[in-house]
Amino acid sequence: NDDGTQRMLEAHQWLSKLYHHLLVNTAEGKEALHYLTERGFTREAIDTFQLGYAPDRPGVVATFLEKKGYHPQEMVKAGLLSSTENGEYLDRFRGRIIFPLRNHLGKTVAFAGRSLGDGQPKYLNSPETSVFHKGKLLYNFDLARGYIRKQNTIVLLEGYADVISAYEGGIKGSIATMGTSVTPAQAQLMNRYAEKVIICYDGDEPGIEASVKTAKELQKAGIQVYIARVPNRQDPDEFIKAEGGDRFKKEVLDTSEPFVGYLMRYYRSRYNLQSEGDRFDYIETVIREVAKLDRAVEREYYLQEIANEFSLSLETLKEEMAKWRPKQKDLGDNQSQQRYTKRSESQTS
Ligand code: ATP
Ligand code: MN
Ligand code: MN
Ligand code: MN
Repeated sequence: NDDGTQRMLEAHQWLSKLYHHLLVNTAEGKEALHYLTERGFTREAIDTFQLGYAPDRPGVVATFLEKKGYHPQEMVKAGLLSSTENGEYLDRFRGRIIFPLRNHLGKTVAFAGRSLGDGQPKYLNSPETSVFHKGKLLYNFDLARGYIRKQNTIVLLEGYADVISAYEGGIKGSIATMGTSVTPAQAQLMNRYAEKVIICYDGDEPGIEASVKTAKELQKAGIQVYIARVPNRQDPDEFIKAEGGDRFKKEVLDTSEPFVGYLMRYYRSRYNLQSEGDRFDYIETVIREVAKLDRAVEREYYLQEIANEFSLSLETLKEEMAKWRPKQKDLGDNQSQQRYTKRSESQTS
């Protein structure tokens, strides 16, 4: 009910203030603040994103929130406390850097806590609650939304730290999910705000694998998907801290390529194209992806590439692709209409 929701949001707001205060003003938070400063987070970023610190001592949350009129059971429901068998309450976040997770309206609905060193798990999130659905939330969407509309583009990154660094580096339209998977709900939400998403996951193997999975999910929602690659297995945070936001924009984002092109190289490195069977599998896989592209010019461009590579005629490839083209009703008309609306919206905002 409404009342419970409101109280839960307020509890998060109070606690987020406390954690932030403990980080920036107290001796208890010193080590954590030092850690963040060492990593290159500015005071401005720490304030903008309300980063905080949850000390490793018992009773922090319960003592504080009880004074604000909350019952421990409410805090359990909010995912801020856990109750033990012998009736004790334990803070969920202990000895961790706190990243408040805000919804699209800017209300803090959950927390992510990062361990200071190599402690496992590296990140601990709030559990699902009536106000936090991790499959629906997009990190930083509230601050990024205006930029996303204007640029008609979303920059999708892997982690909270990446988004904060991007923001500091002048790339304001970036968001992240809670980990590397993107749900259909998140994809649809993105599609309502921009035609294009640039996926820029970490440059390591898991990041590369996840890019392909995410790209397919976004494509299903009708989004134009581009893939940007961070060199040297770095992640965007590391790259921006080392090279700066301008270079990140010029060398990473601006050199992103449409998903199909990326996929062609990705599969090429995985299939053994010397073998005839693999070669046909590869060609078919790529054609199916090309078929999903919205723009005829793009479809022709990639078909031509395959035609050249395997000495096939463009005609044959087009014929093959026709089998995989989504029906007009499903994709074409429907979608261009949706986008038309989107464009006119972004012009007036
Ligand atoms: P950092 O720079 O602080 O090491 P990161 O964002 O580079 O963090 P990654 O290991 O690349 O961390 O993970 C990317 C994202 O995946 C994190 O920001 C977090 O949202 C999520 N994640 C990572 N590890 C976990 C975990 N153990 N449990 C839940 N989510 C996690
Ligand atoms: Mn990663
Ligand atoms: Mn990373
Ligand atoms: Mn990182």
